Amino acid sequence: MIKNRSNNHCEICGSDKNLDIYFIKNEINFGANLCAECMEAVTNFNIENPAKYECLEIAMWSEIPAVKVLSYQILNTLKNEAFAKDLLDILYIEDELKDLANLPTNDITKTFDSNGSILKQGDSVTLIKDLEVKGAGFTAKRGTLVKNIMLTNNPEQVEGKINGTRIVLLSKFLKKV
Ligand SMILES: [Zn+2]
Repeated sequence: MIKNRSNNHCEICGSDKNLDIYFIKNEINFGANLCAECMEAVTNFNIENPAKYECLEIAMWSEIPAVKVLSYQILNTLKNEAFAKDLLDILYIEDELKDLANLPTNDITKTFDSNGSILKQGDSVTLIKDLEVKGAGFTAKRGTLVKNIMLTNNPEQVEGKINGTRIVLLSKFLKKV
């Protein structure tokens, strides 16, 4: 139904590539069709190209509540950009919808490794100390390489796979490679 509604285009930026449905707060009836880049923007607040989102000038007036919520969310993530601030100033969004947006906890949610280097989605890191993986029953040794990490809402934590198990890693115990 969402696919039909969107006519197989990203409902934020209009792209027709790498589409997938994103459900806000996992609500099956409250989703939007998004391209990979917009998906990344709403799930990880990771926006490589802020200028791309000047297109929100249109999407933010959508009559589809989910699209409105996501537009608001992306604008908030980008609120240090002049265009985003201007759009937020004129955007009308109901409080109930506002509450559904998944907003970054800090103004600038950056994740740093043990050396103070910024970690990005998809980076590779090594562990700087042994890590006991409770529940999975193994210890990941210092120096273990973890490829393709995922950022989380919490700048102190990233997710990565070790021995095929996806686990939460503390960014302060990681070193970017
Ligand atoms: Zn998009």
